[in-house]
Amino acid sequence: MTSPPVSSSPCGLSGLWHGLQPSRLCAFQQAIFEHAGRAIILTDRQGMILYFNAEAQKMLGYTWEEVVCRETPLIFHLAEEVGERARGLSRPPGVAEPEGFSVFVAGLGPEKPAVEADWTYVRKDGSSFPVSLCVSLLRDGSGEILGYLGIATDISERHQQEQSLRIAAIAFASQAAIMVTDAEQRILQVNQAFSTLTGYPAAEAIGSTPSMLKSGRQDAAFYTDMWRTLAETGHWQGEIWNRRKNGEVFPEWLTISSVRDAQGKVTHFVSTFSDISNLKVAESEIHHLAYYDPLTAMPNRRMLLNRLEKSCLSSRRDGHYGALLMIDLDHFKTLNDTLGHDVGDRLLTEVAARLTACIRECDTAARLGGDEFVIMLENLGGDAGGAALQAETVAEKVRFELARPYLLSGDTEYFRSASIGISLYQGCEKTVDVLLKQADIALYKSKDAGRNAIRFFDTAMQIALDERAALESGLRRALSRNEFALYLQPQVNAASRLVGVEVLLRWQPPGQAMVSPADFIPLAEDTGLIVPIGLWVLDQACAELRRWADDAATASLTMAVNVSARQFRQGDFVSQVGDALSRHGVNAGLLKLELTESLLLDKVEDVVAKMQALRRMGVRFSLDDFGTGYASLSYLKRFPFEQLKVDRSFISDIMRNSDDAGIVRAILAMGNTLRLNVVAEGVEDTEQHAYLVRHGCAFFQGYLFGKPMSCAEFRQTLGGYRESVPVNPLDDWVI
Ligand code: C2E
Ligand code: MG
Ligand code: MG
Repeated sequence: MTSPPVSSSPCGLSGLWHGLQPSRLCAFQQAIFEHAGRAIILTDRQGMILYFNAEAQKMLGYTWEEVVCRETPLIFHLAEEVGERARGLSRPPGVAEPEGFSVFVAGLGPEKPAVEADWTYVRKDGSSFPVSLCVSLLRDGSGEILGYLGIATDISERHQQEQSLRIAAIAFASQAAIMVTDAEQRILQVNQAFSTLTGYPAAEAIGSTPSMLKSGRQDAAFYTDMWRTLAETGHWQGEIWNRRKNGEVFPEWLTISSVRDAQGKVTHFVSTFSDISNLKVAESEIHHLAYYDPLTAMPNRRMLLNRLEKSCLSSRRDGHYGALLMIDLDHFKTLNDTLGHDVGDRLLTEVAARLTACIRECDTAARLGGDEFVIMLENLGGDAGGAALQAETVAEKVRFELARPYLLSGDTEYFRSASIGISLYQGCEKTVDVLLKQADIALYKSKDAGRNAIRFFDTAMQIALDERAALESGLRRALSRNEFALYLQPQVNAASRLVGVEVLLRWQPPGQAMVSPADFIPLAEDTGLIVPIGLWVLDQACAELRRWADDAATASLTMAVNVSARQFRQGDFVSQVGDALSRHGVNAGLLKLELTESLLLDKVEDVVAKMQALRRMGVRFSLDDFGTGYASLSYLKRFPFEQLKVDRSFISDIMRNSDDAGIVRAILAMGNTLRLNVVAEGVEDTEQHAYLVRHGCAFFQGYLFGKPMSCAEFRQTLGGYRESVPVNPLDDWVI
């Protein structure tokens, strides 16, 4: 830093200005300038720098030589700031906008010899900083302007403090409540948000202690813990319940920070808090949505699984049994489909209310979805039998309650039954999923038992279900893998002459034993697989009839094909049969369809129409397993059947059981009266055969005449019947 040359003789200011020589500054004057602790800059009236003290050099980074006599002060002024100030200056119209130095000194005059303002200085390195600048007009004795004296003080620090204070003031006026206390917890200051939130105006709060907000919900241990944390870390934050002035208790999120002095002694505490009531409401809404069923307000699957897990744990501790009751409304879907979802919803809500009323406080009734509900019973004691009894009692109560009439729309009463599956549990051996699955299996069993029933889960049930699942997956692949085959069982007339066959399906999974249709047909019906399977059977039967047509020995034999209800109910069943017949060019009169009684109980008109359409094509009908259902003979007259097949169960005991014998005799007598020919199924010995012949039975099927065999085998064994085959076997039929 360079210093101005010092003159040895004292001099007047006029001398200094006239000569423009800093060296003419007397030592005394220079000492004042240099020790003023401020940046001092002297300029002439045009703004040319005449003097630039050491403090100014330090502040701005310019040396004496760089500024003196060469530049105006504008070299360290911010150009934009100068422009901005110029724009702000009031000036008479027509007077040009002041610029540069004139801006700086504008406004100075006899009435106002000095101006003081905050200004921005720019250092040589380009960085800027705020200064408080006082510019005074320098005049000589005659009043002539000599120049200007600028004294600048760096106010960066003050600026920063002011800024911090401004920020603190804004923060203090924020939405969060703020309370400042002294070390003894006497409230010194609160903000507006504090008053709004607590209801205490500042005047009332100041001087009191925060205990005026205590709700009493936190115990002494809570506060001890809070003060300990505060002492150890200087901070504490958490949820706390406080009381407003009006007595209302509300949850708040509170943060307390302690303020320490230079010696580390706590001088103040600053607490900020906000009301989290809304957050709590939202939280509980979210919880409700996640764990409760919106329609019935019952716990949902998730909540049930949670509780079940806990129940298993406590069951492991105390050895008590628990039970899961899986409840399903019978035929709910039908009600929903026919009466609409509104009515369905009303039913579900009512069911939920009834279920909840059936259980104790400690039990859980939940809705899994749709019409599936679960009741979880806990603490049923350590004895399995006793627990089962209690579970069954509740299940019976549930069944009774759900069977009471429902008023869902208007005055009409609706009735619904429920199927219930129960599984007991003890401890945590099985996962909750397995427990639910077991209850589900038991439910399935109760539905299987004709619905409106209660069933328990047991291991045997589980095995049966596993087998069923395996069977189902195999069955799904069987058609495409060509694992089915037609077997044929001979049917003969009273003279034991072959008149036709019944087609019996066989399933041969690779590497396994042949599966009986009694095992897979019901499953195929349940899964709907019976439709494609039945179509395949029909097609294969017609293909075989076609082959027979070319051989005189088989050309007139009838072929009876079993048709399940589900297959028959297909909208295009009639055309499916027609297509199969025409595809293979078969005489429809040789095809007989065996139907069962269950088909005749529903949508009678539709069934009759389809049967008649098929009759018109020439197809004949036989009523299978007759005697096992409820159909009366007179009822049967509504359908175009030609034949009845007396169920094997009557034939097998015909020689031992007089009731069975009586039933068979009655069927035979009425069949003749109604001009229906009767076939006896399952004839195994000659005694049965003779008895049936004696009582007028015209046709027979059973092991006595031949077991079901493959089509190839059947063609080979035809020799045994050949000589006895009548020219036209149908001539023997009573039609
Ligand atoms: P179903 O129509 O009543 O067939 C008669 C059943 O009795 C056959 O059993 C047959 O093998 C058996 N049977 C015949 N005579 C005797 C006998 O003297 N003694 C004994 N113990 N049994 C005899 P299968 O073949 O096991 O078929 C069982 C059931 O499966 C059939 O009863 C029928 O309802 C169904 N079924 C078979 N094939 C088909 C099919 O292609 N479609 C449909 N929908 N069902 C079929
Ligand atoms: Mg049959
Ligand atoms: Mg039968």
